[in-house]
Amino acid sequence: HTAHAHVHAPRSGASSPPAMRKRSPADYDFAQTLGEGSYSTVVRATDRHSDRVVAIKILDKRHIVKEKKTKYVAVEKAALTLLSRHPLVVHLLATFQDAQSLYFVLECAENGELLAYIRRAHDGLDLDAARFYAAELIIAVEYLHSMGVLHRDLKPENVLLSSDMHIKLADFGSAKLLRPESPPRPAPAAPPRDTDHGADAHVDADAAPKSTRSFVGTAEYVSPELLQDQPAGAASDVWALGCILYQMLVGRPPFKGSNDYQTFQKILKRDFIIPDRIDPDARDLIDKMLVLDPNGRISLADAKQHAFFSGFDWTTPIWDQTPPPLP
Ligand code: ATP
Repeated sequence: HTAHAHVHAPRSGASSPPAMRKRSPADYDFAQTLGEGSYSTVVRATDRHSDRVVAIKILDKRHIVKEKKTKYVAVEKAALTLLSRHPLVVHLLATFQDAQSLYFVLECAENGELLAYIRRAHDGLDLDAARFYAAELIIAVEYLHSMGVLHRDLKPENVLLSSDMHIKLADFGSAKLLRPESPPRPAPAAPPRDTDHGADAHVDADAAPKSTRSFVGTAEYVSPELLQDQPAGAASDVWALGCILYQMLVGRPPFKGSNDYQTFQKILKRDFIIPDRIDPDARDLIDKMLVLDPNGRISLADAKQHAFFSGFDWTTPIWDQTPPPLP
């Protein structure tokens, strides 16, 4: 089962409609580089057949094999295949390869990284904007967890923005699939609304395997349990969301040392200060998301009920709402 079920089969025959055969680089006009990762380059491109603008993630095979990252590439494809029909997750449109490279054709997030908007604001986004994007992140991550996926590398660089300024979660290269044995459930047009049976609890219950213990992620957003060699669970993604909410409101991440070691020390000591100017409800929610003990940390379902979101419309699908303007 592959990500491109809709482009499978007849591989031969120049006369097959483009959507019916495996694609190749020749199907795209490559333009400028959108981003560089440690193992990939993401290039903007146009589909020659449909004129659709896409983002193609190009991974160098030799580099991946040499650095022993084949497993991560497989996980990224599996996670995107499982999740990528959700409106807040970047869609995987096709995959193919040539002798040197693997290609992931992704929906293009035209407005780039959330990080750029946070930087532009200097000392934090408006409260309404921070609330809205926190809500989109909660809904997206709740969906991941309900599908048995931990992201494990949530940070403002991996929160991309579409042309209509809704989030598109990206970079599943550090993800953990907790239920690889179960067949992928088709993503709903709208994600499940009722969360009171606790998607978080479900993922936590499954989060025991040793392989979740490897350090993945980015120093500033890594949870204290991961630093103490405990398994990552849904709560580890909640920690990262707490860091992102802080960063949206304050303008910088809560834990930042002069090097990774210093950052880790700050995380383990829960050494952070929320400036006085920050809204009291936001401050309280951040405080509950950044609890050292993952079992004591607020769940996403409870975060939605927090006073910070009082009056927030959780019933209208959030991707049908108009986002507050960003700087
Ligand atoms: P890292 O080494 O930081 O984990 P990576 O190799 O996993 O990166 P991605 O994070 O997937 O690569 O992509 C790198 C950058 O390319 C992103 O941060 C973003 O700026 C850009 N990018 C990735 N996917 C898209 C997309 N679908 N639309 C627009 N830009 C994208």
